[in-house]
Amino acid sequence: MKRSADPADPTPGAGPLYVTTPIYYANAAPHIGHTYTTVVADTLVRWRRLLGADAFSVSGTDEHGEKMVEAAATRGVAPAAFTAEISATFQQTWAELGIAPDAFVRTTDPTHTRNVQAILQRVWEAGWIEQREYDGLYCIGCERFLTERDLVDGLCRDHERAPEPRRESNYFFRMSREFDWLRDHIERHPEFITPERYRNEALAMLRDESGLGDLSISRPKSRLAWGVELPFDPEHVCYVWFDALISYLTGAGYPDDPAFAARWDVVEHLIGKDILKPHAIFWPIMLKTIGLPPYRRLHVHGYWNVDNRKVSKSLGNMVSPLAMRDRYGFEAFRYFLLREMSFGLDAGFSEEALASRVNADLANNLGNLVSRTLNLVAKWCDGRVPAPENEGDAEHAVAAAAVATTDAVAHAMATLRPHDALAAILDLASTVNRYLDTQAPWKAAKQPDGEARVRTSLATACRGLRALALLLAAFLPNAAQGIAERLGVPDLLADARLPDAAQAWDALAPGTRIDKGAALFPRIELRTED
Ligand SMILES: [Zn+2]
Repeated sequence: MKRSADPADPTPGAGPLYVTTPIYYANAAPHIGHTYTTVVADTLVRWRRLLGADAFSVSGTDEHGEKMVEAAATRGVAPAAFTAEISATFQQTWAELGIAPDAFVRTTDPTHTRNVQAILQRVWEAGWIEQREYDGLYCIGCERFLTERDLVDGLCRDHERAPEPRRESNYFFRMSREFDWLRDHIERHPEFITPERYRNEALAMLRDESGLGDLSISRPKSRLAWGVELPFDPEHVCYVWFDALISYLTGAGYPDDPAFAARWDVVEHLIGKDILKPHAIFWPIMLKTIGLPPYRRLHVHGYWNVDNRKVSKSLGNMVSPLAMRDRYGFEAFRYFLLREMSFGLDAGFSEEALASRVNADLANNLGNLVSRTLNLVAKWCDGRVPAPENEGDAEHAVAAAAVATTDAVAHAMATLRPHDALAAILDLASTVNRYLDTQAPWKAAKQPDGEARVRTSLATACRGLRALALLLAAFLPNAAQGIAERLGVPDLLADARLPDAAQAWDALAPGTRIDKGAALFPRIELRTED
């Protein structure tokens, strides 16, 4: 299978897409980090569909490995029962939040384990795997042998725990044979790994091979029985990463689904920076040995810090998306995630930060624009969208701002910068708010010759709301629908196609009956606790 030369997309970021979230490690319920990646994937899929492209998404749970056995033992249950429960929690959480990946892969699914075994067998027969004795320091948290550079004061840098010395017979995936090819591939394809800092990090890993070497891909069953058995040696199970990465193939229908090839041709992975190495190094080489082209893009985001610490189970500072929904409404939380994190960099979460962003952007700016516009239409135009008269420079400037915003959002999404896309959309809301302030239809209404000004300014504001609903549809689907309904066009988003729909400035029919409804985003008042 060959990938068409390179992104000769006539419109960048507008074509078909297969996007994956990581296959999340199922040892605890979803937290803010999982929620962020999942929300970005959901937004990207909705955006591409709005552009009229096919989009397919896969999420799932990674259920094998030593850490899972450890977590299940702590709870006093068998690994299979434990992972079934956690996997169900992930699936239910996304469903409750209105996020529906097209496929959800559990790495314990028989379809998946068959794929893993078939691939292992092929790679083994092709001479990519060899058996060696291994002597080293092993971290259960990382589920691998550590190298010098993984250690800080004798402890695993990521897990702050002491590794144990181990000597065992392991099967090694001879990935070092392809480091030159991979380095060359990354150098020739600047957009293969984005943002650029992570591409540089991957290249640095490849330059300093002391940190890499070949990859141990087996664990003796005597030590770990919970995993996919190696088809060529039933005394060993497969290393958890080798198994988990293949889920991106399983989810897309590999090997038999006729849709697989087209999906794989446009695959983009979303990950957090903690799993850069398996995705940037192991995975492209695995794909090469399987006979598949590398993925098209790897998008890497930073960490969420809560109370200035990295989110982790051991620190107990995980933020539950369901708790956030119950407290603030899910779209307020979703907005915060997408807007606060510059994709690629770390960001901080606190309820104070959430409240201040949501109040400033959604309650005071967007929500206020919706309610003041519709209140004025109810009061001065009989509850119907008015027809504009004598449009002038001020109206043309607002219309031009909507067109420019559509372009800015498309550009930001083509380079996966949802934070910039939302900033542009909220700027448009500010522009329409300022326009209303300047036109002051509430004053014009009281002047003898002010009627045309009232109708023109409110028609313009309503058109602005229509454009905002369309532009927000991928980011805040419920709020976008809420605006459309209040504006009296509940079917607006059903089959809308961007960018044309958002740029069809005068498509809102005069006479449409509006429905003020409740406040779109109530202000968040934080309880003060002593
Ligand atoms: Zn570790």
